Amino acid sequence: MVLPAYEDPSHPRHRLFGPLAGLAVGALGLIALVSTFLICRFDENATIREEHIVDNGFAVMLTELNDVVATQVEWDSAVEELDHRLNLDWADFNLGSYLHVFHGFSHVFVLDARDRVIYASVGGERASLAAFGPFDQAGRGLLSQVREGEAARPPLLPRAGSNNIAVSSIQDSHVVLIGGQPFILSATLVQPDFGKVLPRSRHAPVVIAAKPLDAAALKVLADRYLLKDLAATPLDQIKLTTGHSFLRDHFGKALIVLTWTPQRPALMLLKGLAVPLLLLLIVLALVAVRVLRGSLAIASELVASEAKSKHDATHDALTRLPNRAYLFDYLGQQLPRVAGPERTMAVLCIDLDRFKEVNDTLGHPAGDALIEATGLRLLQTCADAAFVARYGGDEFVVICEQIGEAEVYELANRIGAALTEQVMTGFGHIEVGCSIGYALIDEPGVEPSEALHRADVALYRAKDAGRQKIVRFEPEMDQAMKNRRLLEAELRLAIGTDQLRMAYQPQFDRERKLVGFEALLRWHHPERGEISPSVFVPLAEETGLILALGEQVLRMAFAETAQWQSAVIAINVSAVQLRRRGFAAQVLRIAAAAGIDPRRYEMEVTETALLGDDPVTAGNIAALKRIGFLIALDDFGTGFSSLSVLQRFSVDKIKIDCSFVAALGTGREADTLIDGIIKLGRALDLSVVAEGVENERQWDHLVDAGCHLFQGYLLGRPQLAGVPSAGASASAPAIKLPVRSPRQPQVAEARQLRTSPS
Ligand code: C2E
Ligand code: MG
Ligand code: MG
Repeated sequence: MVLPAYEDPSHPRHRLFGPLAGLAVGALGLIALVSTFLICRFDENATIREEHIVDNGFAVMLTELNDVVATQVEWDSAVEELDHRLNLDWADFNLGSYLHVFHGFSHVFVLDARDRVIYASVGGERASLAAFGPFDQAGRGLLSQVREGEAARPPLLPRAGSNNIAVSSIQDSHVVLIGGQPFILSATLVQPDFGKVLPRSRHAPVVIAAKPLDAAALKVLADRYLLKDLAATPLDQIKLTTGHSFLRDHFGKALIVLTWTPQRPALMLLKGLAVPLLLLLIVLALVAVRVLRGSLAIASELVASEAKSKHDATHDALTRLPNRAYLFDYLGQQLPRVAGPERTMAVLCIDLDRFKEVNDTLGHPAGDALIEATGLRLLQTCADAAFVARYGGDEFVVICEQIGEAEVYELANRIGAALTEQVMTGFGHIEVGCSIGYALIDEPGVEPSEALHRADVALYRAKDAGRQKIVRFEPEMDQAMKNRRLLEAELRLAIGTDQLRMAYQPQFDRERKLVGFEALLRWHHPERGEISPSVFVPLAEETGLILALGEQVLRMAFAETAQWQSAVIAINVSAVQLRRRGFAAQVLRIAAAAGIDPRRYEMEVTETALLGDDPVTAGNIAALKRIGFLIALDDFGTGFSSLSVLQRFSVDKIKIDCSFVAALGTGREADTLIDGIIKLGRALDLSVVAEGVENERQWDHLVDAGCHLFQGYLLGRPQLAGVPSAGASASAPAIKLPVRSPRQPQVAEARQLRTSPS
């Protein structure tokens, strides 16, 4: 069987794994991203701090170098030896050599009061004054600053004998590029320290010292501030990954940049923690996997139980076939695809014949086994080509798409044949048939309920036509169905009115002596005229109207016949009434109200009403018998003709069905059957009534066979109380029904009835 894609086909694990794995990867990615960002920010800040430290450190270095030069130049002796006279040896020793050897100055120059170079030293050795050439431009820049400071200085006064420092330093320093080599250039005004010797004129000599910013100088800085790979790098070679500090000239223009490999404390920390972190991550991953697996298992269970609930809600528990809800859902999905003769849909309604009898005779477990086996057979018969559902009770629905008229009929025949075959159950072999109604839908826009209704109407027709029939839906059938509904509505209105009346058909003994009557219901419809009870009684049974109808029958029959002294009155009772709890009590109440003697009345029940083991029916029959009513088994021979039923319910009378009497003389079989029934009745000491006796030949045969009582058109037709039989045959004696005398309640009997409840 092809089931539609009703459930989500993807496995729950797959549905959950994706999002959960995505979540885990996303979370890890986010953690990595945030960590990287934080590490970078932390290290960036550390580098910026280092850059500030280098900026400041370099400024300190300049100050220290200035101080070194100032120590040599701000000295009474320097004024004496450089200004008052020019002592080159003094200059060699105290400036050129000293500053080179102890502080790494490569060039030292002395400029006199008129800014002319008067001394030069290179590498600690006296040199040609031309050595100042490369430093001239940069040196004069500094010189002008120093001269400005000199001009602004208060006049120096002699302070012989004083220990006080006479002046504060007047100097300036900068980084300069000479031939691509960076130098720290410092210019310092020659000044006295104790003021014992004062400059000769307004201007004093100036000492200009240059210290190359070479590896040695950088090492000092690097060692002091723990900088790695510190280098003076040309501006065009600067890299973004390094720390950098710009060295600027007098005008603020960047000349060169100090670069170094910055410390990355966060990265270092991360490297240090890499192993423990990795271990932690592995542990976390393992825990996450466990949690994920656990969650998946729980989620799988949840999804499975949800799927099971969904399945249970849409499937029949007994056959495991789709149920009515699913069927409607399926039809709702598939019907819109129907489009003309090329895309048709066939809806088949299948109903088991005699299912009720199986249930009643073998019990409900046997009925269940039959239903289960039927579901299986339907699946096997329809194979994959159809959708099979249990519609309810013993009714199944098969749906086929894109199928032609001939194929549907062929399928229906196959189903009919399959379901007619014997079913082997734990309760023995069961043999039933089925009726099938189908509708071929080829127009779009048909609703599921309408599609099922059509097939159901056809099924109803099939059942109506007898067992094991296949009927195709025709639009006229719908009209018939509607007529039925209309009739039902009209019957509902007729109950309680005088449209419904009782007719009485006489019964005679072997001497043709009138012994009783069968009360038969008549419906005189104001427009349709007489409507047969064979039409409206089954309708009333199906719709439940029989309960109200039956009550009215009891009231009318008891009331009308209360005074028919010696005649026995038979009243037909439906199986539906008998299955009703409290039915016997209801009969008792009505009987008591009418003041009748129950011993003069018999309840005609059909054989099928007594089949099975319905305890309510059994209780009602027992109570009716206790009260005094006789029980007659109507239409005997048409059902199971079960001996056990006759004994179990202590039936008083059996009525041979009209059809058997009508068949008399048509063959040996019919005659033998009737003779058998009569013999059985006599053997069990039961009265046997033959119904439908229409001619003398039948009468003679029945009398010869030993039948006790007779009913039929030969003897008298049913007639309304007080109305002479219009249709009585010429041969039928005109039976005058007893006239109803004013009612005299039989008080004593009524009291007695009330004391024997059901
Ligand atoms: P039934 O109980 O077997 O009633 C006998 C039927 O046979 C009656 O049909 C009666 O008119 C008919 N009949 C009598 N003599 C002859 C004859 O010589 N030839 C032929 N062909 N038929 C004869 P009716 O009145 O149409 O009732 C049909 C059935 O409707 C009854 O069958 C009974 O099952 C049901 N019915 C009638 N009245 C009531 C009622 O008050 N309550 C219930 N529950 N069912 C009723
Ligand atoms: Mg009857
Ligand atoms: Mg009958």
